[in-house]
Amino acid sequence: MERKELTKGEMEMAKQLSEMIEKLDKVVFPGNPIEVLVVKDYPERENERFRYVDKCCIAESEGGEISKEGEHYIIYGFGLDQRIGQEKRKRIMLFKDSEMSKNSKDLPLLSLGEVLVAIASHEVRHRFQNHFPNDLFSPGDVGRTNDPYLKRLTEYTTLLCKGISPKHYEIEIDAGLIEHWVTEKWHWGERDLSQIAKIVKSKPIPNKKELSSLFFYEIFN
Ligand SMILES: [Zn+2]
Repeated sequence: MERKELTKGEMEMAKQLSEMIEKLDKVVFPGNPIEVLVVKDYPERENERFRYVDKCCIAESEGGEISKEGEHYIIYGFGLDQRIGQEKRKRIMLFKDSEMSKNSKDLPLLSLGEVLVAIASHEVRHRFQNHFPNDLFSPGDVGRTNDPYLKRLTEYTTLLCKGISPKHYEIEIDAGLIEHWVTEKWHWGERDLSQIAKIVKSKPIPNKKELSSLFFYEIFN
């Protein structure tokens, strides 16, 4: 039988994730926050479960068939709790110096908060890319930065994005890098969304001074 409603578990996850995305979006774009649309369906492909869209669409949401114009985020609700469960069985990637010697099996599993902030920062970064298309991080930055943390982050994300189609390659590397950066920051205790937003809005090769005052050096060193 075809189902029409979200389960309790899916609804709870959709609520928590929507809240995280909307809160972060509001800090990154204070003058122009947008909403999350929860779709009562399975995504066509699992890697399209969470999306930022900048054009019109009509989708089945919690309120029934509604039309959403302009920018918004989409979460596909059916199967969402299983997907979050899968993410929580992955290990966090840590790029801080002192963590680099660790065997990957000694890294902790992702917490729910880390999974949610990872997805939220990734999607809000896609919106940022749409507004600032010339400010993306790219594999070329590895050669240009002296910063070992950014270097490792870029190298790892480049590896992860290897199989991605050329059309999406650039934006996925950039969003992936921001996602891992934010997730690690969160892992070490950063819960201030204005600090997280600074990472989401960061541009390649910020000058060293700015980097150390804004981002991770005050915690990492
Ligand atoms: Zn993406």
